[in-house]
Amino acid sequence: MNIPRTSYPRIVIIGGGFAGVALAKKLSKQEVQVVLLDKNNYHTFQPLLYQVSTGGLEPDSIAYPIRKILKDFPNFYFRLAHVEAVDTLKNKVITNIGKLKFDYLVVATGSKTNYFGNSEIEKYSMAMKTIPQSLNLRSLILENFEEALLTSDLNERNALMNFVIVGGGPTGVELAGALAEIKKGILPKDYPDLDTRMAQIHIVQSADCILKGMSEKASEKAEAFLEKLGVNIWKNIRVTHYDGKTVTTNTDLTFETATLIWAAGVKGAKIKGLDSKDIITQGNRIIINQFNQVKGFNHIFAIGDIAHMVTDNFPGGLPMMAQPAIQQGKQLGDNLLRLIEQKPLMPFVYKDKGFMATIGRNKAVVDLKRFKFQGVFAWFVWMFVHLFFLIGFRNRMVVFINWVYNYVRFDREARLIIRPFKRREDF
Ligand SMILES: Cc1cc2nc3c(=O)[nH]c(=O)nc-3n(C[C@H](O)[C@H](O)[C@H](O)COP(=O)(O)OP(=O)(O)OC[C@H]3O[C@@H](n4cnc5c(N)ncnc54)[C@H](O)[C@@H]3O)c2cc1C
Repeated sequence: MNIPRTSYPRIVIIGGGFAGVALAKKLSKQEVQVVLLDKNNYHTFQPLLYQVSTGGLEPDSIAYPIRKILKDFPNFYFRLAHVEAVDTLKNKVITNIGKLKFDYLVVATGSKTNYFGNSEIEKYSMAMKTIPQSLNLRSLILENFEEALLTSDLNERNALMNFVIVGGGPTGVELAGALAEIKKGILPKDYPDLDTRMAQIHIVQSADCILKGMSEKASEKAEAFLEKLGVNIWKNIRVTHYDGKTVTTNTDLTFETATLIWAAGVKGAKIKGLDSKDIITQGNRIIINQFNQVKGFNHIFAIGDIAHMVTDNFPGGLPMMAQPAIQQGKQLGDNLLRLIEQKPLMPFVYKDKGFMATIGRNKAVVDLKRFKFQGVFAWFVWMFVHLFFLIGFRNRMVVFINWVYNYVRFDREARLIIRPFKRREDF
């Protein structure tokens, strides 16, 4: 891997997401050698992926080169590498570009889409966990309308204009809101010769409400916002099957659609060598203690989505969200230095900063510890928080300008089929 030998302890971080970057920044000026490995050379701001999928933002504005984030840090090395396994006996990571020895290892691999073992749904549905997946979805949505324009078969046309989103969490809700706004504001102008009123957006949710983790008020208000936008919400229903044409559920309800978007859950992106039954728990997450140490190891840690940390307030593990990842990354930076200096470690204490989701223009719901609010003010808070946590001044500026432009012009300029999505041949 061409990493120089040094007298400093070597800390290898797998993953340049929220957790890995927060940790690397914390270690930036310390007497340690940091090697960050990621299969992408960029950090992805996942909370805004849905805006890429729906043409509101260009992908470049929510991605940032990892090398640039850490360019001024001495003793820092980035390698574009897919980590395939960890050899915990020899203290080595095994990657597609070679092996690397570590003194301390931090797993920050995040999560991936959870299809709950349903391979048909995995094959035919669209996920939205990465930038390439979001671009696929953007292309497919636009290709569907181009195709709908050409067919004289009414059923086929409706199926092409039907969007079924599985999962009523923040991702599903935000995506549905954005699609509804496109239907209302953009499709009639772009496709005057297509009856775009026939386009349908459905959310199918297995629970009895949407935004399950938020307050009752937030959930009710989000539902009211979505209904006003014309989104159909189906609660207490589970999608069981999709063959690329028909969505089947555990009830009599079925949908004919060319686009099933799977936003029903994620699971930890575990790595061979750290995947034994005694380490991995529900949702493929790695069991860690309050110092982020992986069960059974002093020098191997896990942070962010991949890490399963139980607290009094979160007996099922901390939420798979940006805040726990960032906070764990920062705290582990301090603890690694303590460990190296043979000082006692400090336990991680999660500061819950709340939950929020936007439904669309002037519509958001925010649950903070003390205050819960919905509507226009919540929307401004949502925008401010997202801009604040975006990495890079340019990205913040670009996103801000895009939002102002989209707001004033009722537009989404990035509705481009740059890399056409290849539809499954059997559709
Ligand atoms: C669509 C969507 C919307 C979201 N919205 C919100 C929101 O509004 N608010 C919120 O708080 N959270 C939100 N989240 C969740 C949030 O993005 C995650 O909780 C957060 O990204 C977790 O950070 P992480 O560092 O653990 O993992 P990630 O940010 O996922 O980073 C993991 C990194 O590891 C790399 N990696 C993985 N496996 C390997 C490997 N084998 N080898 C090399 N590199 C590897 C990946 O390339 C990636 O860069 C959203 C997530 C999605 C998908």
